[in-house]
Order: sequence, then structure tokens, then C-alpha cells
Amino acid sequence: MENALRKRIDEMRGWLVEIRREIHMRPELGFEEFETANLVCKWLEKFDLKVKKGMAKTGLVGLLEGKRPGKTVAIRADMDALPLDEANSVPYASRIKGKMHACGHDAHVAILLGVAKYFSPLKDHVKGNIKWIFQPAEEGGAGGRVMAEEGVLENPKVDAIFGAHVFPFLAVGRVGFYEKEGLAATDRFTIKIIGKGGHAATPHVTKDPILAAGHLISQIHSIVSRSINPLESGVITIGKVKGGTAFNIIPDEVELLGTVRSLNAQVREELKARLEQVTRGIASSFGMDYGFNYQYGYPVLVNDPEMSRLVASACSEGIGKENVELLKPSMGGEDFAYYLERVPGAFFRLGCRNEEKGIVHPYHSSLFDVDEDVLPFGVEMFVRIVSRFLDLEMVA
Ligand SMILES: [Zn+2]
Ligand SMILES: [Zn+2]
Repeated sequence: MENALRKRIDEMRGWLVEIRREIHMRPELGFEEFETANLVCKWLEKFDLKVKKGMAKTGLVGLLEGKRPGKTVAIRADMDALPLDEANSVPYASRIKGKMHACGHDAHVAILLGVAKYFSPLKDHVKGNIKWIFQPAEEGGAGGRVMAEEGVLENPKVDAIFGAHVFPFLAVGRVGFYEKEGLAATDRFTIKIIGKGGHAATPHVTKDPILAAGHLISQIHSIVSRSINPLESGVITIGKVKGGTAFNIIPDEVELLGTVRSLNAQVREELKARLEQVTRGIASSFGMDYGFNYQYGYPVLVNDPEMSRLVASACSEGIGKENVELLKPSMGGEDFAYYLERVPGAFFRLGCRNEEKGIVHPYHSSLFDVDEDVLPFGVEMFVRIVSRFLDLEMVA
């Protein structure tokens, strides 16, 4: 497919790689992305965008006001890294012990800066406004919620928002999109079974919380299969069990920690209610007390179907329908959901896998990497999406 736009964007490949590697080598955790934000700020100012710093502590926003009136579109990148040691021995590996860009947010930042570089000389051509959102703390810190609460979608009011995540399950050069639900609500719970400890040889004078926890674990695993409509989705995983100190002591209590995932509010509430009911029932059948703490996490990420179609169609125009794939929702979470609760938009995936180069490792692995071809590719996809939404002719 003849693609003059791609040729033009390919010219910035070296620059994109340099930026991505600079960020990759100096990863920063959520709400501590000071250096990353400075680097972003430097480029946004160079591109002559209006910059607002210090949102959600380390977040920042760039605004391009087109010379012609029109709608406002926002695009978003997350900037935070993860607390683990990088195991890759590439020249651009993390220089900071215990921190690594193992989720590709370094690539997200570079791609959005590439989009800024592309549009910055085109102010006369742009109808409406383009807003670049660089947010902190996607990895559990809900930086997106803080940005939204601090008004990032106002002044000018955002009509639609688009965000992408690199995707190691798709080959580089391919795009994945969702119809409506894209990612799950991600809640967590802590359950305590409170018994009465004592000697292992005299269980009859104790209340053994380990046995109760065993029953509870089985029971919890029957909630999704027996209480949720088989055509709906839900997951409950117990990730941590804590209790006991020695082979011959019955402990006072056992603690279970876990996560609950769902794709709609009704299932979410059902799972929560059943979890507590089952805990109460088991505790009571053993004559024990219990503690139940449930924390709501990120909400379900719900794309606007019309915006999803726009993503699929705009990307297809560049790479052909055969390279744009409709994905099933994932039970992972994303704080992009907070923006989508407020304005229509779509979250999509940029393939970053390359078997030949050995770039096959999943997110959050110490061996995670992206095929850097995803950088110019991502820029092209965003340019196409933004141009389509603002109704701009493509300039190559
Ligand atoms: Zn992640
Ligand atoms: Zn991520």
C-alpha cells in the first residue's frame, strides 16, 4: 500500500528510538516521574504547544490550538515504570536498580511526542484542538483518575479521547481494538477468619481457622461458576494466604488476599455480595468471627462503539483491514477507564511482538521489551485517528 504518511513519519524513527531509550534507561515509579515529565515538557515547549505542568503531581498536558475552529481531541500516554529489576542485557537496559519499564509506558510517551512533532508545524491546517495528556501512575496509583478530577478534560472541553497500549500478544504492525468493554474492573479484598489458637494436639479446645480457610477457599471458587450467568465474565483469584507460625500450633487467624474482576457493574456487585455472604456463612458454620474488607479499584473500561469503529477504520486505511483485529476484552485493568467514564473515546492496542527478535515476553516480565518499529507505527496510527476525528486531510 502506497503510504506517503508512513514515509514522512519514518524520518523521525531515530529520534523516537532515542527518546524511548532515554526514558527506558531512567525508569521512575508512579507519582515520581519528575525526569520523564521534564523531558516531555522540554519537547512540548520546543514544539510550541501550550504546556500545563504539575497536574496529579507529575502529570502534564500539551495543547495545540488549531487556526481553524473545530472539535477537541485528547490523546493520552502513561509515564510510570514498575518496581522490578530488568533482566534484558540490551545497551538501553534500565540503569536504575529495582525499577524497569516493563509495561511499555516508555514507548507510549515516545509515540505521543512523535504525534506532537508531526502536528506542531501544521497549526494552520488543524481544525479544532489537540490535547496531549501525559499522566503519572497507571500501575495501581490511578493517576488517570487524579488527572480527570483535576480537570484535564476541561478547558478546552474534550470531545473524545484516545489511548493505546503496546501489546505483546500481537505482532508489530498490527492493531487491536475493542467493541465496547475492553478491560475489567479490578477490585481487591482482604478476608480474615478469626478463630482461637492453641496446641495442635488439642484441636477440640481451639477454633482452627486453617480448616475454615480451606473450606472458604473452595467455596469462593464456586461463586463465579454457580452464581454468575455463564454468558457474563468474572474472575476471583486468591493470591495470598497468610496464617500460622509452626507445625504444632493452631493459629488465631488466617488472612486471604485476592482480586475480583468483572466487566459490568451488576456482576461486580454480585461478586462482592456473594464473597461476603460465603465468608459470613463459613465463619458462622465454624463458630468463628470474620473480617471482610473490599476495595474498589479501577472501573470497567468501556469504549464508545462509534469511537472504536473510528479507530478500526482510520487504522485500516493505513495498514489494511487484515491488520486490524477485533479483540475480546481482557480481565486486566486500565485507569484510562476514568477518562472514558467522562467523555467518549476508545482504547486500543499496538502490536509490539517480534518472534524473530525474541521480543515475546509478557507485560511485567523482567524480560519485557518492545519491537521499536512500534514507535513510528504508533505515531502513524494516532495521526490517522486524530485526523479522522478532527476531519483533517492527511498531510504527508
Ligand atoms: Zn502494566
Ligand atoms: Zn501498562
